[in-house]
Amino acid sequence: MSRIASRIAEARVGTRPDVADRARRGLVAWAEAEAAQGTSPDLVLDRLADGTAAQGLGRLALSASPVPQGLACASGCAFCCILSGADGGTITEAEARDLHAALSPLAGQADGRAWHPRACPALDPQTRACRAYDARPVICRAYVSVDVTACEQVAGGEAVEGPGTLGPYHTYLAALGLSRSALKGTRRVSTHSLARLAAAAVEGQTLDEALKVSRHKPGELDEELRRSKRDLGRAAGPGLP
Ligand code: SF4
Ligand code: SF4
Repeated sequence: MSRIASRIAEARVGTRPDVADRARRGLVAWAEAEAAQGTSPDLVLDRLADGTAAQGLGRLALSASPVPQGLACASGCAFCCILSGADGGTITEAEARDLHAALSPLAGQADGRAWHPRACPALDPQTRACRAYDARPVICRAYVSVDVTACEQVAGGEAVEGPGTLGPYHTYLAALGLSRSALKGTRRVSTHSLARLAAAAVEGQTLDEALKVSRHKPGELDEELRRSKRDLGRAAGPGLP
């Protein structure tokens, strides 16, 4: 086993044990595959640190998961893009860079906030479609619902059943926590606010400025992992795994 794979195998994260194990196995397999392809150890460490590895694991898990029956999700249906709070959700640095690249050419155009004050700035206010669809982070890809009325109620601040986050989001988050544990003392693993990054991008800020204003405090990943563990312990909405 490569040195970095060994560090990942020994890494720890505060989430449900089966989710942590799944993320750990995925990251070890990824690191071993990178080593076998001749990727330099420095580049492997960079990809672990910026969340490229966790993002890849999350996307792979989503593509391999069966689509739950009865989803109400459709293009232009965007109550889930009305973000709660100023943060809007956790994204990796790699996802932040992808989103910035997709959104910065749209700087100055009307954005989602012209439809709803708390809507994601990546949203098109007319069509209510995501203007950064290919670059949308794992949190957006994993959030689904069987009931659009429930989504509207959640956007309005009510706690109702229906919407939920699919398992791969929790695996992705665990992978980020494991990356941080494996890299402790060598490289920083940053997470960012989806809402602040998207706002900075559409307001024309440079990538460095956008990364700076959207960077989470170090404790935010732990907080998100606690929320994830709590959600994993709750029953999912009808039809969701
Ligand atoms: S999660 Fe809800 S609001 Fe978002 S696309 Fe699905 S049904 Fe529509
Ligand atoms: S990035 Fe796209 S899918 Fe995600 S919240 Fe923003 S508009 Fe919605």
